[in-house]
Amino acid sequence: MGILKKVRRTLLGPNHKQRTDRFRAKLSNFGLSRFCPCCQSYVATFLPHGQVQRPQARCPICRSLERHRLIRLYFANKTNLLDGRPKRLLHVAPEIEMSQWLQKVPNIDYLSADLMSPRAMVKMDITDIQYPEGSFDVIYCSHVLEHVPADRQAMREFFRVLKPGGWAILQVPVTVPVTFEDPTVTSPEERTRLFGQHDHVRRYGPDYADRLREAGFDVLADNYPAAMGEWKRIRFGIRKDEAVHYCRKAA
Ligand SMILES: [Zn+2]
Repeated sequence: MGILKKVRRTLLGPNHKQRTDRFRAKLSNFGLSRFCPCCQSYVATFLPHGQVQRPQARCPICRSLERHRLIRLYFANKTNLLDGRPKRLLHVAPEIEMSQWLQKVPNIDYLSADLMSPRAMVKMDITDIQYPEGSFDVIYCSHVLEHVPADRQAMREFFRVLKPGGWAILQVPVTVPVTFEDPTVTSPEERTRLFGQHDHVRRYGPDYADRLREAGFDVLADNYPAAMGEWKRIRFGIRKDEAVHYCRKAA
């Protein structure tokens, strides 16, 4: 590293470039009609995203999607996550922005885990979790179980490692009236055709909540977006049809 770069880095901090880039993006995307609760940015619009492009989906600053903004608001408004009491939290398949935020919350003892991603703090197979019973107060796992053949086993593992009185938010795409899966379907093309993505192994219906109950959880499929009202949904770029699966282990 050149001497000027070193001086600059010492004076301005290691993330100076990141911060400058974000500031520029905030300026160029500024507007008052939308607000991203993940990166706390006022933006003129969210961007389209997805194979079938969904309008108002991706934050132009932090790249969060509708589901991330929904959960960020849910954490703040509908759970005890930010009550200041110490909590051990397991974040499976960590999304960058959410991960960075959770690590900054003073009362959270944070652990991220993933089967593959080097970004996570530990490697973890969620069907065989390497932590003892009652290790976590909170688990957050979003859009993972639809990739996991033994999803019921993963649910039981989440239940096991949660402390009594603890809770988990376990999100999946709910896209059909009744869950359907077929383990004989293994080719990426067929999976895309049947399950909507090359690496999905099923489509879930609202009976997803029953699978979670079978694992032991008390499940609230909370239609928070509906309760929020249309004005807020539009402002935060949140979809109307996505229930939050709040899963509690009885105390
Ligand atoms: Zn954002």
